[in-house]
Amino acid sequence: MIDPSSPLSFYVLHRDPASLARTGELVTPHGTVRTPAFAGVATQATIKAVEPQALAAHGVQLLIANAYHLHLRPGEDAVAALGGLQRFSGWTGPTMTDSGGFQVFSLGAGKEHGVGKMGSIFPDAPAPSTRNRPSVPARSLVRLRERGAQFRSIVDGSLHEFTPESVVAIQRKLGADIVLPLDECTSPLHDRAYTRRAMERTHRWAQRGLDAFRESAADPALPNPAQALYGIVQGGAYRDLREESARFIGAMGFSGFAIGGSLGRSKDEMLQVLDWTVPLLPADRPRHLLGIGEIEDLFAAVRRGIDTLDCAAPTRLARNGGVLLRGERRHRINLRNARFERDDRPIDPSCDCFTCRHHSRAYLRHLCRAGELSFYRLATLHNLRFLVRLMQEIRAAIDEDRFDALVDAWSGSP
Ligand SMILES: [Zn+2]
Repeated sequence: MIDPSSPLSFYVLHRDPASLARTGELVTPHGTVRTPAFAGVATQATIKAVEPQALAAHGVQLLIANAYHLHLRPGEDAVAALGGLQRFSGWTGPTMTDSGGFQVFSLGAGKEHGVGKMGSIFPDAPAPSTRNRPSVPARSLVRLRERGAQFRSIVDGSLHEFTPESVVAIQRKLGADIVLPLDECTSPLHDRAYTRRAMERTHRWAQRGLDAFRESAADPALPNPAQALYGIVQGGAYRDLREESARFIGAMGFSGFAIGGSLGRSKDEMLQVLDWTVPLLPADRPRHLLGIGEIEDLFAAVRRGIDTLDCAAPTRLARNGGVLLRGERRHRINLRNARFERDDRPIDPSCDCFTCRHHSRAYLRHLCRAGELSFYRLATLHNLRFLVRLMQEIRAAIDEDRFDALVDAWSGSP
């Protein structure tokens, strides 16, 4: 249980004796999230191609939208006037918003360095496009100062500024249950000295964000006065910096914590960052991992004590014809493959999603190859349901002290 003034309650239900994995309940003003859970990436206040009612029907518990994109379009004032994100979108469940720090990063240093979170991996945000927008410069769109970050809109090239205070104000108007402060994400190619300076700036920004958050708590005009603010741990792939950041941010009174930024150049480095960071955070508060992709990463993150994580994989993969299927290489098949041309079976006969209950691989392959819009929805629904069921399986295994055996069973697949 966290401090009584927080609108967010987190209860640890069971701890895995062999790792940091744990089950819990994250109680928000819009419902309870059973953890570990994945958050569907709803950058533009929607999971691409799927309406909110279908998400609920398929067991999705939590969405993460993006303050950067929603600030640019339609704007937080419009969302607030329409009752906040939940009323605006029709998704009535728990919601987070990411602050936009990663977008500032990915359009600035990340763009200059040509890298994302780990090498070439970016989250589900659309890449900056200069198509039909000749006024948008191709190089860094961002100027960082102590005060905040100035950037040009990827929508229309207009100039904007994010400060720790403005990012809180934007998210207050959007009204998600869990919001994040502005942080500066470094690239894996930044050296230690720069990464330290950025981390220290992120810490100063965290304090400013927390102050602004507390000062704005009582405004009755806000769509969701019961929001909670998480702190973000930075420090790149440097152990001492990550540890310092975890201790610093962990002591500041946030309702929970997100681990963000450059998670190293490889998956091993990402896992190391979790090994260094999570044990130093207050054990009674929830921990969120920002932006992971693969099924094996889910297991690895949960083992290291992550309670929620946002996962762009199911939606992005689905739109490219990839559907998740246990036992296949990387737990996926590509429906474009010729071997599915006459395949009358559902994607997964044991899956209870809408798609598997109604359609064959052969039909889905046809939709995919024909570029039919219905394919995006059908493939996305299956992948979301796959992850929902996987997280259920993970929670049950942790509760029954057999999480290791579950990990082994899944990694034993080809
Ligand atoms: Zn299915």
